[in-house]
Amino acid sequence: MNLQADCIVCGRRAIHLRPTEEPVCARPECRFVASEKGKIPHTAYAQFFAERSRHIREHDRQEEVRAGILRIAQEKEDAENRACRQERIGNMPGYGAARYPLVAVPHNGRRLINLPERRKREFRDKLNRLISSLMASPDALYTGKSEPNPPPDGARLLGGICTLCAGACCLNGGTHAYVRELTLLRVMRADPSLRPRHILDLYLSHLGRKTYEEACVYQGEKGCVLPAELRSNTCPDYFCPPLKQFRLEFHEDEKPEGAFVVVRAREHWPFPAGVENGIAGAFLLTASGAQKLG
Ligand SMILES: [Zn+2]
Repeated sequence: MNLQADCIVCGRRAIHLRPTEEPVCARPECRFVASEKGKIPHTAYAQFFAERSRHIREHDRQEEVRAGILRIAQEKEDAENRACRQERIGNMPGYGAARYPLVAVPHNGRRLINLPERRKREFRDKLNRLISSLMASPDALYTGKSEPNPPPDGARLLGGICTLCAGACCLNGGTHAYVRELTLLRVMRADPSLRPRHILDLYLSHLGRKTYEEACVYQGEKGCVLPAELRSNTCPDYFCPPLKQFRLEFHEDEKPEGAFVVVRAREHWPFPAGVENGIAGAFLLTASGAQKLG
């Protein structure tokens, strides 16, 4: 029988599977605290329990505060984005929300610099480790499947939005570029004549000269400089929340012909309280390109 009860560690509601035991939620940190019971003397455990429980509850409280601040900031931005759309194209016939949905994206505003040698070495070392691991057990991996491509009419618009954002999500590629064993396995299966050293040379030969500061080692001014067939599945398959939403619009009866894109100033959504994330630009995106509207 499943019982609902409050977790004795964090106090959150938990499904309690064994009524004979004290209720503990499924979070690993709460499970860990509960699992230590009986392993150390009673008084020491009581103190350990009290400290960990206080720490976890305080962390949860801070997270709630943070989430509340973000929610308010998000609502404010949503209202600004809608007002911006209304002001620019609200009264233009033929540019309704179904044909030109509002899409708000972050923006990569980092400097373009020469890719530092240190970051090249970091990438090379990671690649070497991946290749060694792959050669040790090449058949132990599932190569994964790419998501089906978005509809062709939508793909160009999606790409146009990514261009306006300049790849804020790609920044996280850092010195790994999301390349994994399965990426390399896919590359090797596509061309079985490639030996491990060829793979290494191939990837290193495509490293960007000018890339964004501390960004993906392949992130250049005009986007990714790594040929599509060498990229990780993560790169074509990842869609940020606004793009995910935009893709859904293509399943509607009236499909988008473009988008009204609001570019915000910062590169990520979660930002500390009080940090300005104003509108950096507004664009009307159509199949033939983006037009800046202010
Ligand atoms: Zn808990």
